[in-house]
Amino acid sequence: MERIQKIISETYDKKSCKLIKRTVIKERTIIDPKKIDDIGYTQKEQVELLQNVQDEYLEEMVHVMTENKDCPKCGNKTYRCGSLESEFNSIYTDHKIKMSGLKCSNKECDWEYRKTIYGEYGSKMHPDLVKIQVEKASIKSYSASQAELDRECGKVRRVNSNLSIKNTVDKVGQILNKLHTNYSSVKVREEAEELVIQVDGGYIKDKNPKINSFETLLVQVYNPKNHNHGYKKPNGTRVSGEIINKTCVASSLKDRGQTIKKMVLFAAKKQGITAKTKVTALCDGAENCWNAAKTISVLCNNQVTYVLDWYHIKQKFESLANKVEDPYLSKLESIKWKIWHGESEEAITRLLSVYEVTSKYDYTDKIHELYKYLANNKEYLVNYVERKEQQLPYSSSIIESAIESIINERHKKKQKAQWSREGAHNVLQIRTSRVSNDWDNEWNTVKDKFYVSRYNKELKNAA
Ligand SMILES: [Zn+2]
Repeated sequence: MERIQKIISETYDKKSCKLIKRTVIKERTIIDPKKIDDIGYTQKEQVELLQNVQDEYLEEMVHVMTENKDCPKCGNKTYRCGSLESEFNSIYTDHKIKMSGLKCSNKECDWEYRKTIYGEYGSKMHPDLVKIQVEKASIKSYSASQAELDRECGKVRRVNSNLSIKNTVDKVGQILNKLHTNYSSVKVREEAEELVIQVDGGYIKDKNPKINSFETLLVQVYNPKNHNHGYKKPNGTRVSGEIINKTCVASSLKDRGQTIKKMVLFAAKKQGITAKTKVTALCDGAENCWNAAKTISVLCNNQVTYVLDWYHIKQKFESLANKVEDPYLSKLESIKWKIWHGESEEAITRLLSVYEVTSKYDYTDKIHELYKYLANNKEYLVNYVERKEQQLPYSSSIIESAIESIINERHKKKQKAQWSREGAHNVLQIRTSRVSNDWDNEWNTVKDKFYVSRYNKELKNAA
């Protein structure tokens, strides 16, 4: 006995249960599988089912959409007139929808409307598709995102081309940029006694060959009570530290720091800053980083301790260690420990004398660079060992890994990935939103701004 599975779509009147339309979506003979591929439906067949079921639904939906709408201008009845074809992109499938136009029955009133999905909502993409596109593109290149989406849908779709994904990312990134700079709208939820702000810079390769690369500033604000420090297990394996709640913001715009400064205030308020909060600012020593960090002082009554990040100091000494030989190597080592113990004045003087006697070596410029770095940041050198003993923040190895994942992973490592400042800035808004664990929440705001209903606008204007 042979059996057949038949999948049917039925439209019927809710009240009378009278059948209005009946369409066979699929008929399929039930077979004895010869191999595992024959069991159930293939990906292609599954997507086809979704396609056909939704096509049926959408055809009915457009009837409802253009039915019984009163004129938004004068309130008279409207009637259907003409039709336009719209495209609609669902998460896995694409659809064409024919929609009737509407016209006001009042002869005096000239209201007339031709509807398309785009015209109604400002986009032909379902929010599920927008969300998945930007989520993928925030961690992968556009072409890798395209390939992955094509794979998931089982077919190549124009809406998932890398150019289309880029447009979606730019639109969402611009909305998020507004959100991340609008610090006055942030309500402080849980007041923080203490906060740490870390500012660091990174470089992204520019797509313009005349400009080699441009700087991006990345800021992280967190409450030190949410910082779980790394430690060594008895068996010797290292458990790395982690910050369980933080707000990250980033800007690669060239605007003399205006954007990043607003974002600093946004992040500080998100993390609960008040006039009583005590803040530690950790920076890598560049002037624009300090300037960004200093913005925070207006929110906490100037209670900020500025600390030149020990991580960067240590790194600079380490990179010299490979080039310099004794007796200067051990001199450098002792200078480093002088800084660690807060004897920065003495350390800088000694470093200058090492520079003066090593002028014939090829690493002399590097030593001078280090000298300048420490001398320029003298006021931010602290007693590091004391801070360590008191469990106060002094080093930012953790933001390094955040930078690594935010900038380098997405922008730097791939030789081909070259960026405009604006393009990189937009991706960074999505990436930082996700790193801050705020994306699901911010997505709701994004959605409201991403879609602009023309019909609702007209209603508002008429009112
Ligand atoms: Zn009218």
